[in-house]
Amino acid sequence: MITSIGYAATQARAPLLPFNFERRDPGEYDVVLEALFCGVCHSDLHAVNNDWGSTRYPLVPGHEIVGKVVEVGSAVTRFKIGDHAGIGCLVDSCRECAPCHEGDEHFCECGATGTYGGFERGTRIPTYGGYSNNYVVAERFALTIPQSLDLAAAAPLLCAGITTYSPLRHWRVGPGQRVGIVGLGGLGHMGLKIAKALGAVVVLFSTSESKREDGLRLGADEVVISSDPAQMKAQGNRFDFILDTVSAEHDINAYLRLLKRDSTMCLVGLPEKPTPFNARSVVLGRKSLAGSFIGGLRETQEMLDFCAEHGIVSDIEMIDIQQINEAYARLEKADVKYRFVIDLASLKS
Ligand code: NAP
Ligand code: ZN
Ligand code: ZN
Repeated sequence: MITSIGYAATQARAPLLPFNFERRDPGEYDVVLEALFCGVCHSDLHAVNNDWGSTRYPLVPGHEIVGKVVEVGSAVTRFKIGDHAGIGCLVDSCRECAPCHEGDEHFCECGATGTYGGFERGTRIPTYGGYSNNYVVAERFALTIPQSLDLAAAAPLLCAGITTYSPLRHWRVGPGQRVGIVGLGGLGHMGLKIAKALGAVVVLFSTSESKREDGLRLGADEVVISSDPAQMKAQGNRFDFILDTVSAEHDINAYLRLLKRDSTMCLVGLPEKPTPFNARSVVLGRKSLAGSFIGGLRETQEMLDFCAEHGIVSDIEMIDIQQINEAYARLEKADVKYRFVIDLASLKS
């Protein structure tokens, strides 16, 4: 086993503290990463707080990991020692079911293995996430980080990037379309950049007047303050697609009203409480309400290459691991510009 160190929560809402643990030994198909940077996703905070009722403690969060390959198994072909590599939200799956065969490992019928909070496949060894100094992963679940991307700013692409890229591609967002992005946080700001790069006219919906300038800078053609009924009314029946990234309870019916006939709103945010939904919101106009969950390995690599081609990375606030609890408090108040990334060199200090 490999001796490792990270930061863990030991119970719901407890502050994260230093934590020693062991990872499995690498096999012939595995790479060992020295973790350099890890993004802080709102899902980490939901998991720490047990918002979804399924958290196992101790929990080492972190599923936006970039690092340096320090060891490769004898059968590894895509990585060599010294390469940069990334790990996103999943680290294994059954590899045999239809979704696994079709590149949708995240929808594995046997349940994909989460980067944290799960068990190494076929064992009772817990998976611990990227708020740590290393990771052992099968090379088929590791991503190549294009060299042109800043490494720390590329980390959030591994969750926030793919979670917004995947639905934007699935619903074929492109030129000539008017697309709404709801919420300007980690996912929202990536959604803005990617939808813009895909050629759509992009409208940001934010609760925060203070984010208007940033919204325009990040690629929005218009910014709508969602708490202002007059601004919302003016957007009625105008959207081809809306992507909702909001992490807390809010009125989704207000956005369904903004869709054109036959158009779709996709939820990616995962608030703690169920969302009230009025059938009239979709019946009138034959509209669709959908959801989307991260993305498979093939599409995640495609997204990284797309981001390299379009010069897209995340806007980050770098923190030391010792500041993680403070960062969570700010995330809870929608106060991040626009993704915290942990410099894991701070684990040694
Ligand atoms: P984040 O950085 O905290 O951003 C969430 C944004 O939602 C905030 O910046 C804020 O934007 C808006 N918001 C927050 N509270 C609100 C409220 N009460 N009413 C209206 N708007 C509010 O979070 P994130 O990391 O982007 O994650 C967003 C959500 O997606 C989380 O629930 C997370 O668990 C989920 N997620 C899902 C997937 C998936 O695969 N489906 C993957 C990753 C994350 P404004 O200030 O602009 O209003
Ligand atoms: Zn995430
Ligand atoms: Zn499977």
